[in-house]
Amino acid sequence: MGKVNSITSPAPKGGVSYKQISIEYENMPVILKPVYTGICGTDRGIVNGALQFAYCPPGYSDLALGHESICKVVSAKSNEFGIRSGDLVVPQVRRPGKCLNCATGRSDNCSDGDKHEAGITGMHGFMREEFGDYPEYLLKVSSDSIREVGVLTEPLKNVEKAFEVYEVASRRSISTDRFGSLSEKRAIVIGTGSEAFLYALKCRDYGFQTLITNRHPVDDLKMKFLDAAGVEFFDYTKEHRDSKGWDLVIDTSGDPGTILRFLRKTNNNGNIILFGTNGKAPATGIDGQDIDYIIERNIFLIGSVDGARVHYERALQDLERWNAQYGDRLKSLITHRFSPQDTSVFTKKDPLEIKSVIDWSM
Ligand SMILES: [Zn+2]
Repeated sequence: MGKVNSITSPAPKGGVSYKQISIEYENMPVILKPVYTGICGTDRGIVNGALQFAYCPPGYSDLALGHESICKVVSAKSNEFGIRSGDLVVPQVRRPGKCLNCATGRSDNCSDGDKHEAGITGMHGFMREEFGDYPEYLLKVSSDSIREVGVLTEPLKNVEKAFEVYEVASRRSISTDRFGSLSEKRAIVIGTGSEAFLYALKCRDYGFQTLITNRHPVDDLKMKFLDAAGVEFFDYTKEHRDSKGWDLVIDTSGDPGTILRFLRKTNNNGNIILFGTNGKAPATGIDGQDIDYIIERNIFLIGSVDGARVHYERALQDLERWNAQYGDRLKSLITHRFSPQDTSVFTKKDPLEIKSVIDWSM
């Protein structure tokens, strides 16, 4: 049994430690070491005991955390899927169950919930000094230039999948403007975390006039990046920018009151992507006029989770392109670096954080 240092939590009880746990991995076809692992709200939710759906693999009282990662291949038994030792790879988080969607590579659309997620539900995650995996779940990173920002592949694949759903939803009417583009169409992203930034960049790629909003101001570093990307920030508690309405609303907050506020300003044939989750957000009132508003304007509400292999591939392509376009600005999304031993990052969040990562070389 391989004893390796891992960042673990006795899910779903909550808590976090950096310690050795025994997980057999030596006979797996590919052996990996993490380069960077990202921290997100899900990891913090598991650590503070708020995510009751998190659980340990059978026979374990600890769950190795970590689902956002970029890893180095230590060894590969065969060269299946072109994976060779020395490669940088991103492992997929979700692993298929037995339903038809899972059986055809779309566990992101699992129809019975019988799937597993690394570092979250019944499968050890990637915050381990060394671990094993199967080549079919590894996405090869073709350029060393995205060694750092490659850790954003996993959060970005969610964005890629959501936009795939948006493409389907927007086909029901003419969604472009009088120039056949989206330059006169307005997208609003609610929230200013890393996932919101990635959604805003994608909106800009599509050509939307893109605004990002929160209920507090953002710091200089964030403002500089938003300027470079052509994204406008406003504080919705102080300013209103919805006189022209919204054609695409993307929520990363999970707050019903905020979502409803922007829903009420959504244009005809508009799309609303719900991505953020917050089980502790307060309830809000929705009345008959809201239902009438949604119906009369053909508003499409989209819930979207996770992404498939194809979305990881698109995320890697976008990161390479954005890296060329934005350079150090893109790298500035990674605001904090921690050593694996320093687990304080799971219980504290710096207000200036966009993305915190664990640097496994520290
Ligand atoms: Zn399934």
